[in-house]
Amino acid sequence: MEKRIVILGAGESGTGSAVLAKLKGFDVFVSDKAAIATQYKQLLDEYKIAWEEETHTSELILNAAEVIKSPGIPDKAPIVLQIKEKHIPIISEIEFAMRYTTAKTVGITGSNGKTTTTLLTYHIFKNAGYNVGLGGNIGKSFALQVALENFDWYILELSSFQLDGMPEHSPDISILLNITPDHLDRYDYKFENYVDSKFGIVRNPSADKYLIYCADDPILVAEVIKRMSNFNGLQLLPFSVKNAENAVANFHDQTIEIADKQEPFSIDYTTMLLTGTHNVYNTMAATLAARLGQIRKDIIRESLTNFKSVEHRLEPVLQIKNVQYINDSKATNVNSVWYALESTKPGIVWIAGGVDKGNDYSEIMDLVKAKVRVLICLGVDNSKLKASFEGKVQLFEAGSMKEAVKIAYAEAKKEETVLLSPACASFDLFKNYEDRGRQFKEEVRKL
Ligand code: ADP
Repeated sequence: MEKRIVILGAGESGTGSAVLAKLKGFDVFVSDKAAIATQYKQLLDEYKIAWEEETHTSELILNAAEVIKSPGIPDKAPIVLQIKEKHIPIISEIEFAMRYTTAKTVGITGSNGKTTTTLLTYHIFKNAGYNVGLGGNIGKSFALQVALENFDWYILELSSFQLDGMPEHSPDISILLNITPDHLDRYDYKFENYVDSKFGIVRNPSADKYLIYCADDPILVAEVIKRMSNFNGLQLLPFSVKNAENAVANFHDQTIEIADKQEPFSIDYTTMLLTGTHNVYNTMAATLAARLGQIRKDIIRESLTNFKSVEHRLEPVLQIKNVQYINDSKATNVNSVWYALESTKPGIVWIAGGVDKGNDYSEIMDLVKAKVRVLICLGVDNSKLKASFEGKVQLFEAGSMKEAVKIAYAEAKKEETVLLSPACASFDLFKNYEDRGRQFKEEVRKL
């Protein structure tokens, strides 16, 4: 009998895994506790894959030889606990698909900057004429592409949840951008569990693999030192804007310098469309990966002059009556707000709030005091934000995006910036962060 593979979650990653598993000859079953979107049902039917929706039938799941779990399903979900009790291995889509491709992979993780760096890296590889796919947490399922395409390279955005399900495979080139507290609700509120999860990107290190990481992040540096003896010769490429020792990418006088052994080169920051310190980091990481991919320096430089910021990430919306409106809806944790505030001039009308994931606002307190004049709390429960910033800035509360933008418009003075950078998840008032960002832009455009 064929080995039975059960896939939990029939979204982009689950259905892609199902198609790949089916084509590889497994007995495949897909189970989703919610309704499955029509497009995914059609895909499953097309490949004659059995599925169920709005329920998990234990008897059809607990007889699996292996389970592929979608990253959105928490480890504490009852069905996952049952699977664990039976000692059935649980893996992620990425682990499964990596078994079936010989393509080179660049994997990108970190608490912030994953999407930007993934898209930038992909953009450079594309510009260089490579046969390259984009996957992971972004775009089309990696597994589906492994099933149906024939790429030489994959650029993959990897969340901690995907890394948790990758016991045996690691990317050829790993990028670790930063580690700051996030998603602690899914890691038993223990930061070290989340750190371990992120380092899952180099769970299988070897001398022919690379780790590109930020040498200005004290947590990353300490962890690299701690883990070094198990790295099996993994090649390290640290990058820094603060002259960190051994950094192979540095930043001086508006110039990124890459200390390539054969061919050192520099990039003029003023020619780049991505701006802000965080984007210097993201650019260094993408550039180092591109160099490992043997991409020419002039192609890298040119790619950086035409890569624009990504929607919902410090995205300029409009200038109205000399007030700049910026959509940073993707800033769902405190660290990304730090970078938003850092790269915005003083005189900020800050819209923040939503579902708190265990935020500690002390790390942005100085920046808020120095730069924020007005805080508009946009969430169902604003108590934590209010308690943190009461008396430090002018406070307002809003129950909808319309109201928040109205208050912002009334309060903002000439030359100031209205910045949506919530530090929180969006699920209390919005479908997701994209919905929050789009509503913001719509309301701004109506002003
Ligand atoms: P992710 O995919 O990791 O969530 P994004 O590229 O979508 O990262 O950016 C998320 C938020 O973090 C945005 O507000 C963005 O401006 C900010 N950001 C981007 N790069 C970095 C970085 N290297 N460090 C800190 N914040 C960053």
